[in-house]
Amino acid sequence: MALLLKNARVIDPQVELDTVCDVLVRDGRIVEVGQDLAMEKGETVDLTGKVLVPGLVDMHVHLREPGYEQKEDIASGTRAAAHGGFTAVCAMPNTAPVIDNAVGVEYVKARAAQVGKCRVIVSGACTKGLEGEILAEMGDMHAHGVKAFTDDGHGVQDAGMMRRVMEYASQFDCVVMPHCQDDSLVGEGQVNEGTCSTRLGMFGWPAEGEELEIMRDIALCRLTGCPLHIQHITTARGLQLVRDAKAEGLPVTCEVTPHHLFLTEDDIDDTYPTALKVNPPLRTAADARALIEGVADGTVDAIVTDHAPHTDWEKDREFELAPFGMIGLETALSLVLTNLVKPGVIDYGRMVDLMAVRPRAILREEPVRLEAGSIADLTVIDPDAAWTVARADFLSKAGNSGFIGAELVGRATEVYVGGYATLKDGVIVE
Ligand SMILES: [Zn+2]
Repeated sequence: MALLLKNARVIDPQVELDTVCDVLVRDGRIVEVGQDLAMEKGETVDLTGKVLVPGLVDMHVHLREPGYEQKEDIASGTRAAAHGGFTAVCAMPNTAPVIDNAVGVEYVKARAAQVGKCRVIVSGACTKGLEGEILAEMGDMHAHGVKAFTDDGHGVQDAGMMRRVMEYASQFDCVVMPHCQDDSLVGEGQVNEGTCSTRLGMFGWPAEGEELEIMRDIALCRLTGCPLHIQHITTARGLQLVRDAKAEGLPVTCEVTPHHLFLTEDDIDDTYPTALKVNPPLRTAADARALIEGVADGTVDAIVTDHAPHTDWEKDREFELAPFGMIGLETALSLVLTNLVKPGVIDYGRMVDLMAVRPRAILREEPVRLEAGSIADLTVIDPDAAWTVARADFLSKAGNSGFIGAELVGRATEVYVGGYATLKDGVIVE
């Protein structure tokens, strides 16, 4: 099958490319990138005015299957991903049952192959049942293709256990991706501890509850040599710890979410909006500014959604009773384009780095480059498409977004996975 994508602005910092040209794809791979390409037969798509980049990867997504299909499943979650411009997502293991052995890994892979609209990279738990007590079957999961381990949703409380996880993972050159949360400090914390928790009269989730585990895990990275990827970093001091670790030469990377970049604790008003209840919590405006600086200066490696779907009946409760998390797959790219690329905080090349290049490298996936021979996982963006975020447009089963009503500019219109269209003119290809 041949596919000729014509006249897009083709951007890939890996091959120092930013020019209007054509991309020819055959049998799932790019065969040529250049001017005025032609082919005998196949499908030609005119992408004049659009931007074509290596397929986006969201390395932090909750697809909720198996076990929580009322919130989301692999079919709906991957449709939401394609709708948002992604060619691959990394699924978190906090399902029911937890993905802590090879059977669970094979289940997710099989479902994704059956019903997925994008690639699904499976991450495995560090500890059995995410309980922090017994090592998960990491070696077996690795034999079944897992290259990233996380107890996301929970911090591994015991430093000795975390050391064993990292020693074990480092044998396979796998990455360990901690959700940094010290339970003894966080307890029943609902929102950032400080002005916000005082104003709303709720238990606080202190910055130190996150920063102490970041500090500890960086120390364990130094001890074990295991590649460490800090999930959803939210504070200025936490980010500085990562900056210092990188300067020291440690294999440490980190990610941020659009909600921690573009929302703050000040957005949680006295209507107690449960869509803004996330873990870790929305922090101060100064923290958000520091994270944006980290995105611009290269300290932040990846922008991820932490797409965390919940049903309406779970979120439509008192703030303290509502579960943590918000969805993000269908708004992330547009939020980044609107708030970072358009104002010139970062350029398209850096966006590609944050949302495609670095996530693949951290997850040890084959790189996608806009040159001959590469896998044809591609995202096409209409940079001028203005739209308003509306719940009715989500393909996710859930609506718990903190950005409903936001006016954004730029969105994905076409997505190709292995040369096959999963999104055309903004509509899922069935
Ligand atoms: Zn998490």
